[in-house]
Amino acid sequence: MIKFEILVVGSSNTDMVIKAGHLPSAGETILGGVFFMNPGGKGANQAVAAARLGGKITFICKTGNDIFGKQSVQLFEEEGINTSYLLSDPKNPSGVALITVDDDAENCIVVASGANATLSPNDLQKTQEVIGNAGIVLMQLEIPLETVEYVAEKAINAGAKVILNPAPACKLPDSLLKKLFIITPNQTEAEMLTEIKVIDIDTAKQAAKIIQAKGVENVIITLGQNGALVLTEDVFTHVKAHKVNAVDTTAAGDVFNGALTVALAENLDLIAATEFACKAAAIAVTRLGAQSSAPYRNEISQVFN
Ligand code: ADP
Repeated sequence: MIKFEILVVGSSNTDMVIKAGHLPSAGETILGGVFFMNPGGKGANQAVAAARLGGKITFICKTGNDIFGKQSVQLFEEEGINTSYLLSDPKNPSGVALITVDDDAENCIVVASGANATLSPNDLQKTQEVIGNAGIVLMQLEIPLETVEYVAEKAINAGAKVILNPAPACKLPDSLLKKLFIITPNQTEAEMLTEIKVIDIDTAKQAAKIIQAKGVENVIITLGQNGALVLTEDVFTHVKAHKVNAVDTTAAGDVFNGALTVALAENLDLIAATEFACKAAAIAVTRLGAQSSAPYRNEISQVFN
C-alpha cells in the first residue's frame, strides 16, 4: 500500500540511440546498427520507473513547445503520472540526448538541455502545494542547481524527505548535502564529490564516509554490476547486484532511483529498498533504451520469485 506520494522534479529529454560495434573516438565516423528514439532524461526516466513500479507520482519538468515535448507529456499521462504541474517553455526547444551504445553495453551520451535549463525557482513558486503534499521528493542534476536547492529547501520545510541522484557528476555545496535524506551517486559521481577514485568496496566505503561527513543522512553508492554500498549512521551494507545478461546499462541508475523511492514510500527500510532497487535495475540492464527498459511491478516478482 502506498504510504507517501512521490514528487519527481527533473529533466525530460528525447533520446536518440544508435547501437554500434564500438564507441567512436574523436574525428571518427562509424556505421552503426539499429536506431531508435525514446523519451528519456534522468527526471522523466526516474518518474516513469517509479510509476511502473506502483508509485503515486507527480512529475515536474519543463519541455519546449515542440513535437518532442508534446510526445513526452502524452507518454507521462499514459504511465499514470500526474502531469498537472508540467511546464512549457515558449522559447527554448525540448531537451534531446544523442546516445551511442556499443556491443559491450557501454554508452556515450551528449545532452542538449534546451528547456530543462530554464526550469527556475520562479517556475516552482506556483507549485508550493504539490511540494508540500509529497512525502518524498526525488531529484537529479539535469536542471539548474539553484532549482534543486530551492525545491530541497521547500521540501524539508514541508516535512518531506529529499533523495538526490547527483547525476551528471557535479560538485555540490554542503548547504544542499545537509538537506538530503539520501544521496545516490554512482562511482564517477562519488569520485566527483570526494576526490576518492571509487573502484571497489573499500574505496566506496571511504567515499561514502566523506559524503556522510558533509551532512547527508544516508549514502548509497551504486557500483554497476557490483550492486550498491549503503552507509547509514556507522553501518555499511553491501547489497549485491543480480547476475544478468546486460545489453544496455543506459538507465540502470534511473531505474534504481525510481525503485528505491517507491520502496521507501511503501515504508520498506533502506536495505530492503536497496535490494528492491537492485532487482528493478538488473531487469532494466537486460533491455535496450531508457524508459523503455524500466520494468513493471509484476515483472519484479516474476523474475525474482
Ligand atoms: P548509473 O547507471 O547511474 O551509472 P550504476 O552503473 O552504478 O549507475 O548502476 C545502478 C544499479 O544498476 C547498480 O547499483 C546495480 O544494482 C544495477 N546494475 C548496473 N549494471 C548492472 C549489471 N551489469 N548487472 C546487474 N545489475 C546492474
